[in-house]
This record gives sequence, structure tokens and C-alpha cells, in this order.
Amino acid sequence: MINKEGWLIEAEKHLSPNFDKRPINSEIKLIVIHNISLPPESFEVENVIKLFANELDFESHEFFYTIKDLKVSSHFVIDRKGKIYQFVSVYERAWHAGVSSFKSQENCNDFSLGIELIGSDNVPFEDNQYDSLNRLIEILCNFFPDIKKENIVGHSEIAPSRKTDPGPFFDWSKIS
Ligand SMILES: [Zn+2]
Repeated sequence: MINKEGWLIEAEKHLSPNFDKRPINSEIKLIVIHNISLPPESFEVENVIKLFANELDFESHEFFYTIKDLKVSSHFVIDRKGKIYQFVSVYERAWHAGVSSFKSQENCNDFSLGIELIGSDNVPFEDNQYDSLNRLIEILCNFFPDIKKENIVGHSEIAPSRKTDPGPFFDWSKIS
């Protein structure tokens, strides 16, 4: 269930400052699936929570210097156990897609919801993650009827020259 401020009741809530208003009259019609791990191939969620809060300690790992000026967020993150976190209200524009286009409509952040799975392009995802993802997708599709099943895409599909996630190990046949 999603409350009237746009927050999933069951999610662990963390506020990210990295969001802004969607353009007026933008209908929410797209779900973008990503993977993320910080540092790469490390599957704890804590550094992702810090990244979205702009609180990542850039001195704690050399990789973090390469993303020092990044201001990003996603509406949702699903950790390896299937726990769901939310960072931005579904009504607001999270900063997850970057330069992108879907069916020749640009700036997918305007009209999409971003879901990050903790993982990488090199390792299969957990069944718990698919279970939570399917539950979340069902809730979001009921809440926003403009999100049709064909409007659930990977980041790589809307930014093919820049992005590879959710990657070859993401099993689209497990999305019901
Ligand atoms: Zn992505």
C-alpha cells in the first residue's frame, strides 16, 4: 500500500535530497529497473543509502572518489534479502535514469519510477529480490494505471549507449 504522500507503507524510509518536481501533467507510466553495488560487487546496502543521502565517505574507498560529485537517487532499492527501501516519494522526480529515452520520449526521470536491485552485471539476483520486485511492481501498477507491463524496462533499454544494468543476469522471465 502507498500512502497519500507517495510512500510505500512497508518500505524502510530514508529521505534523499536528490529529487525535484516532475513536470506539470507528466503521467507516471514507466518503471526502470537498475542494479547497483557500492563499491562494485559489494552487496551491502549501507553505502547505497549513504550515496542517496549525499553522505558517502569518499575517503573510505578509492572507488568512491570516482563518484564524488554524483547527485543521484532512486525511488526504491531492494537489498539481497528482498527488503525494500524508499528514498523519494513516487510523486516526485528521483534522479536515476540520466540521459535517456523511452519510445522517443526523452528524460525518463520525468515520467518514471526507479527501482535499484542490489547486485551487479556479474552475479545472479536472489529469489527474494524477484519476490519483492514482483510485489512492488504489482502495487505500483495498481497505483498508476498508465504503467503497462510493456512499460517495465531496464536502464540499459532507455540509455543503451551508457548503461548495461540490470545486466545479463537479470532474469526477465521471473517478472510476472
Ligand atoms: Zn541504472
